[in-house]
Amino acid sequence: MRLLIIEDEPDLRSALCAGLTKKGYITDAAADGNEGYELALVNNYDLILLDLNLPGMDGLTLLKKIREKDLLQKVLILSARSAYEQRIEGLDLGANDYLVKPFDFGELEARVRSLLRRSFTQYNTVIHFDRFRLDTRVRLVYTDDNEVVNLTPKEFSILEYLLLNRGNVVSAGELIEHVWASDDSLFSNSIKVHMSALRKKLAAYSSNEIIINMRGSGYRIKKPDNDHL
Ligand code: CA
Repeated sequence: MRLLIIEDEPDLRSALCAGLTKKGYITDAAADGNEGYELALVNNYDLILLDLNLPGMDGLTLLKKIREKDLLQKVLILSARSAYEQRIEGLDLGANDYLVKPFDFGELEARVRSLLRRSFTQYNTVIHFDRFRLDTRVRLVYTDDNEVVNLTPKEFSILEYLLLNRGNVVSAGELIEHVWASDDSLFSNSIKVHMSALRKKLAAYSSNEIIINMRGSGYRIKKPDNDHL
């Protein structure tokens, strides 16, 4: 899951980036509205965290411009307590949610999770597959014996993304877009390397083929026969 943080206060910006990265999200950050808008145009973000009082383009203008281009882009507004009217205007302009500063990081993370889940038809924080379950809240994968599968954050993110798009073929390009940070080297972080490590770890617990390689088009996890699981 890839997030864009547009926030001009350096301490808050770096705390958000560090905290969310630690939780396994890919984060890009912008310190002013113009830079943020540029990044939002070029990249495909699962969620944008948007401060309203920004140098350059202000947050509400930025939101309006994003909405003109993309009705489905998820945006979470971060605003000062005093900015009540701005917040209402933001929601009117199509922000998906807002948080009032100062906020607790745990609450922010819960909102982020909830907004990201809304992108998919996935309302449960736990996704079951084969003999495993992936918990999006604690970002861990367990076997049915409650053993933790020891995945790296990147392997977890790949698996989570594939599971949230279960049944669909996910291309390598789409994985790069959503799971890789723009500053990562694609050579040292080749998808194939992470994918093969991830498969090996799952294969240690299950002999079923879980991630199917669709030659030339990408990767897919089969939909469960029992779809409500
Ligand atoms: Ca600000």
